[in-house]
Amino acid sequence: MDYLILIDKFNPLPEGYEQKLCLSEIQGRLLEAQACCQCKMMLERAKADGVDIKIISAYRTIEYQQRLWKQSVNQKMLEGYSKAQAETEVAKTLAKAGHSEHNAGLAVDFGTEYATDVEDDFYKSKQAKWLCKNAKNYGYILRYPRLKEHITGISYEPWHYRYVGTEAALFIKQSGLCLEEFLHFYSEKYI
Ligand SMILES: [Zn+2]
Repeated sequence: MDYLILIDKFNPLPEGYEQKLCLSEIQGRLLEAQACCQCKMMLERAKADGVDIKIISAYRTIEYQQRLWKQSVNQKMLEGYSKAQAETEVAKTLAKAGHSEHNAGLAVDFGTEYATDVEDDFYKSKQAKWLCKNAKNYGYILRYPRLKEHITGISYEPWHYRYVGTEAALFIKQSGLCLEEFLHFYSEKYI
């Protein structure tokens, strides 16, 4: 499994990825097996520190991603956007089917204890602060940071974490780079 795989607007899941994907369960959701094991350890540690973190979304099938995309675009069109405008707007926070890290089983959206959906002000919570500080030790990075929107193509998402493996996560966190920059400058050392 390549945990440094780049999945974005331009790079869909590679052919045959889903067939090779091995999933495990956490909080009733699914994640890639190793990412799941690390996530479990991370959330147990957080709980021990008095911080209850809820998983809002983890692995999504490509079909589900497709439905989510259509629903979101339709919703925007009901609000008065044209189809093209609606798609542009939705694309700021939602990937098309096969272009989401959630389809790869390597991404988790976290929330506060009783949240039922992602929270815009999640960054203020003790859960977000704990993750910001500690996720790297479990191989997770904040995937869409502030001020990197022009590179990632995605708005700041304080809730979306991506599993990249511990070595890369520590480096990415310390360097302040986003995954795209890290892969551009350092991939040869790591891949
Ligand atoms: Zn997400």
